[in-house]
Amino acid sequence: MDCPFCKCDPYEYVDVGVGFVPVAVTCCDLGIDLIQYGGKKARQTLANMRSYSPRKKARAMKVLREYGIKPERRTRWQ
Ligand SMILES: [Zn+2]
Repeated sequence: MDCPFCKCDPYEYVDVGVGFVPVAVTCCDLGIDLIQYGGKKARQTLANMRSYSPRKKARAMKVLREYGIKPERRTRWQ
């Protein structure tokens, strides 16, 4: 699963000998909040992003900008 906010693979992987396992979420603050902690603000922002309401979408984009995430950029870094 990719982070819905920054579109990156959110996990940091550690080699445990038999393979790599995800140990922590490291991609972006909102992703950490959503995936690691199930934070209310992150869940609300995700719901707004997926809403059909332009006002809710705009509110979600504002939060993303506050966190320094550019959701329109979909290219992967790795
Ligand atoms: Zn992220």
